[in-house]
Formats: sequence, C-alpha cells, structure tokens
Amino acid sequence: MKKSVVSSFDVDHRTLREGLYLRSTYTINDSLAVLSWDLRFCAPMDKQPLSAGVVHTIEHLMAYHLRLDEKIGGAIVSFCPMGCQTGFYLSTMNSVTADDIAAALKRVYERVFPIHSTDDIVGLNEVQCGNPALYAIEPTNEAMAKYIEILFPNR
Ligand SMILES: [Zn+2]
Repeated sequence: MKKSVVSSFDVDHRTLREGLYLRSTYTINDSLAVLSWDLRFCAPMDKQPLSAGVVHTIEHLMAYHLRLDEKIGGAIVSFCPMGCQTGFYLSTMNSVTADDIAAALKRVYERVFPIHSTDDIVGLNEVQCGNPALYAIEPTNEAMAKYIEILFPNR
C-alpha cells in the first residue's frame, strides 16, 4: 500500500485492537516535536463504536481534566474525538510517554468517574458547547471502565 499523507490511513484497521498507540510525530519548524496518540476504545472490526453521546461526554471530560493532571497536563496540545467513533486522538509535547498517558487517564478516571448527571460534565452548556443536548451518563461510565481495564488488565 502506498504511504498516505495521513498517518492513520497507513494503519490496517482490520487488525487494530483496543489500546494506546503512538500514531505519529509531527515536527514543527524542524525543532518542536508534537506526538499524536491513538486512544483506541473499540476495535474497528468489532463494529460496535461508541455512541455519539459517549464520544462527546468523554471529549468534554478528558479535554478538561487531562489538562489539570499534575504530570502531563502542561504538555497536552489537544484531545479530539475520531469521527469513526472508535477512539480519540491525544496530541502532546514529546516529553510524554505512553505510560505517562495511561497513568494520567487512570488518575482522571479515579477522580472523576463514575459520573452521575450533567452536572459532572464540564462545559456542557449553550455558552461553552455546540451541542449540549448530546451526552450519555451510564454508557460513558461503562466505556471508560472498559478502557481503563484494557490499559491496566491486571489491576
Ligand atoms: Zn461539546
């Protein structure tokens, strides 16, 4: 297969499993390296993507709480959902490792989850969000619990 200009298009999604992967390194002005991480919540071939409400809820929670993390918060560039609804892209400075990210996700999980109502979803309002009616509570708790279990199988 010819190498694509989009690095994720070079991944064979038929064999991709859930997990945390370094997807690409972007070098800006030949000096500043930014890492793009693939937080894959669902194996694409299982054909059970996250619901739009779960994607949106996790986006709000992680975009906010990961930036408050004591270890990696200051090195986060962005946290964005994948349009295919099987995971998220996290961009960080190159000082961050996969273990750092997994540990930060676990810290956020233990601090913020389970969520109980929209009061627990930061920024979910008409001023700060484009679609505050789109969210999920219990399915988001389940999706995050499953992902943490994938990152820390022997916990
Ligand atoms: Zn929103």
